[in-house]
Order: sequence, then structure tokens, then C-alpha cells
Amino acid sequence: MTETTDPTVHITPVRGAGRRGVDSALGERIEETLGVLRRIEAEYAPAALASSFSAEDMVLTDLIQRHTPDIGIFTLDTGRLNEETYALQQQVRERYGRRVRTVFPEPEDVEAFIERYGVNGFYDSIAARQACCHARKVAPLERALTGLSAWLTGMRREQAVTRQELPFQEHDAGHGIEKFNPLAAWREEEVWQYLRTFDVPYNALYDQGYRSIGCAPCTRPVAVGEDIRAGRWWWEDPERKECGLHTARQRRSG
Ligand code: SF4
Repeated sequence: MTETTDPTVHITPVRGAGRRGVDSALGERIEETLGVLRRIEAEYAPAALASSFSAEDMVLTDLIQRHTPDIGIFTLDTGRLNEETYALQQQVRERYGRRVRTVFPEPEDVEAFIERYGVNGFYDSIAARQACCHARKVAPLERALTGLSAWLTGMRREQAVTRQELPFQEHDAGHGIEKFNPLAAWREEEVWQYLRTFDVPYNALYDQGYRSIGCAPCTRPVAVGEDIRAGRWWWEDPERKECGLHTARQRRSG
């Protein structure tokens, strides 16, 4: 990990957040989440957040930076991300003085995918899509997690039918480390309430109707009333729409 923190960055304690207009329900949610983050920082070092620069990841980035800076942050650059996502990554560096570790796919894995399926072959079948996700996300994630005791995600239960049973903590048997989902119980409006209250930068794609952040060719805006994840791999069955990052054999441990 190469993350650094800038000691000049202003730290705002959540307990004083009432002056910022944090209502009690959000304040409790924040305190509950901070409890999890502090436990991770104390008991599971080294640990790191896997950030896709979604709204949820920005809540965790802000909390980590201001309260538990020993938790690292990394991102998987698939090579197919939106320009808005890169802009936010740069903004995080400038706002927080923090270098998010970027993990890229192995060039030969991407070359092999393109050779077999074509550069946009992921539209042709679930197998091809999963092969692309494996080369660009799953294999890089394995490298990113090497040496960690735990990793964190910004996943929430209400995001998708595949996430309704999402626990706060689970054992990621596939990677042999603990996995935490500190925002599992957060509602979407609480995420945005947090970002507005603490003036946290967010991905400009949300202003274009996106409600989930992923690769450019596989993510699109959703209509009002549509499922949050409807814009991801919209051509596939909702029951199967995960990229493989979160489907490794896992057992609940807390
Ligand atoms: S989301 Fe799409 S472009 Fe990104 S890794 Fe998966 S299939 Fe490839």
C-alpha cells in the first residue's frame, strides 16, 4: 500500500456534527459505522477499502480519512471506467491529500480476453462477461488483497436482490481474510444525506441518472422507480448480476 495522509487536512469530529445539521438518526448511523471502522483499524490491520468511487465508497472514504486513517483504500482500474470516475479519484487526492492505490489488470489477461471474445465481447454471453470481469476485476482483486487481514466494501442490503442477506462481517474464505460491509444497513437517502452534510465530493455520473458506478460499457443510467442495480449488465438476469468480486465462498462470522 502506498497511501499517504496529509496532516494539514482538517479533521471534523462526528460528535460535533450537530452544528452541521446532522439529524439524530444519521448521527447514530455514523457512530455505529465508526465503531465498526475503529474495530477494523485496531484488530484487523492491515485492512483496506475497495473503492469504485461510488456514493457509498465516498462515505467510507470520508469517514476513514477523518477518523481511522490507518485503513487503506485501493481501487481496481479495469481500463474501462468513465472519465467522471477518474475525475473523482483525482479530486479525492486533492481534497484529502490521499493516494488511493490503483491496481490494474495483468496485460496478458486482457489481451487473451480480447483475442478470444473481442474488445466488447462481454455483451455476447454471460460466460464472456464473466471472463472479462475475471481478467479486469477478480484477478486484480486477488493481488490487491494479498497481505491484508481484512477488506471493506460499500455494499448495502437494499442495493440488489443478491444483497438482501448481506452481513456486516463475513469470512471471505476465497481470499482467506475477513470482509466487512460497514454500510450494509444504510439506506440510500442516508448515504446522500451524509455526503451533503459533510460536503463530500461525489461521482458526477449520479447527476446523469446513474445510481451505481461500474465500467462505462456495462453501466447506464436508470429510470425513476427502477432497481438501483438495473443499470448494471442490464441485458442479464437480475439474480446473476454480480461481477465475481463478491461471490467467493464466504461464511458469516458476525
Ligand atoms: S463490468 Fe464490463 S467492462 Fe468491466 S470488467 Fe466486467 S464485463 Fe468487463
